Amino acid sequence: MKFESKLPKVGTTIFTVMSQLAAEHKAINLGQGFPDFNPSADLLDQVVKAMKDGHNQYPPMAGIPLLRNEISTKMKAMYGHYYDPDTEVTVTSGASEALMASIMAFVKPGDEVVVIEPFYDLYIPAIELAGGLPVIVSMQPPTESNPLYQVDWQKVRAAVTTKTRMLIINFPHNPTGINLHESDLDALELIVDETGILVLSDEVYEHIVFDGKQHQSLARREALAANSIVISSFGKTYHTTGWKVGYCCAPSALSIEIRKVHQFMVFTVSSPMQVALAHYMKDPAPYLELSRFYQQKRDRLTRGLAKTRFKPMPSQGTFFLLADYSQISNLPEAEFARKLTVQHGVGVIPVAAFYGRPNADESNHQLVRFCFAKQDETLDAALDKLAMV
Ligand code: PMP
Ligand code: GLN
Repeated sequence: MKFESKLPKVGTTIFTVMSQLAAEHKAINLGQGFPDFNPSADLLDQVVKAMKDGHNQYPPMAGIPLLRNEISTKMKAMYGHYYDPDTEVTVTSGASEALMASIMAFVKPGDEVVVIEPFYDLYIPAIELAGGLPVIVSMQPPTESNPLYQVDWQKVRAAVTTKTRMLIINFPHNPTGINLHESDLDALELIVDETGILVLSDEVYEHIVFDGKQHQSLARREALAANSIVISSFGKTYHTTGWKVGYCCAPSALSIEIRKVHQFMVFTVSSPMQVALAHYMKDPAPYLELSRFYQQKRDRLTRGLAKTRFKPMPSQGTFFLLADYSQISNLPEAEFARKLTVQHGVGVIPVAAFYGRPNADESNHQLVRFCFAKQDETLDAALDKLAMV
């Protein structure tokens, strides 16, 4: 049979490739972003209870009301914006489905979508499936004097034209670990004010923000909330990446369109998980304590790496940090990550994989991404190996 691939450049994701390589070589996997520990026993008990209580059939298409209410309450309490649970909150199959449904709902063939590089791997193929054209704006990579990646909002503004349908942002940022600050929200507000652009805000790491800072959700500013789709994931917040439950919050006119795609992509999301999450969410403590929990792990990995020839970069949020390996090797990032996994027994992700042209020189900065969502023993065992590299 003859056919033309709709995604000719897409292969298996780097996360799967590196996890498989790590498993094959019995390496400690600090690559793909997932915790190597269980969610709270209370949350697990709630799932079993929900199943035994009979929550085993199709829940409502947009998500069970109880969970949408809890999400709405949390958004209001954390960021000050009220999303109507009936018309503005939709429970999705992970953040992935929320992202795909949003892009499918609004991007038409020929529309441009501005994406900031490095970027999470889902965005570009989703834009291309919708027939859109990605317009990539690169961040400033770290330098000696500024070890953090930086967004140039002037460049983002310049990329927005009359053909632009959407701007996609992701903060706290995977893979760089940078956060938004008040001044970034000011810059974004100006862009939205001048252009009326729709912003897709991937905030899956909203509850993992370090050093006493607060997450700058787009829901904090009325002018931004009115033009944005804000997406999150219970996978990151409750150590349940395998459950694939997330949500998106958007003004009702936008949510109506997103739900049209959602109802035909998955229709709805696992009912016992939704019931359990709704009960568990009533207590804000688990998500309010998450930053502190992960900051200890960030600091453990940073301290350990500082004793090796890797140079850890600062991480302001997410469960990732980058490390510079220029004292160890001149190899491009993908080759170095492979070698580290196969020969030294620690799996990582090359940062260049988050670039449009992963093999290009300008995408390779001798950086790899470590995931520290791991038990302390896992981190310590990896550090023992890294000390010998
Ligand atoms: N966006 C970003 C930036 C992510 O890191 C992830 C996690 N893999 C996702 C979206 C997808 O989240 P989920 O697993 O809930 O689909
Ligand atoms: N978001 C995860 C990461 O960045 C991976 C998710 C996936 O494997 N698709 O590692």
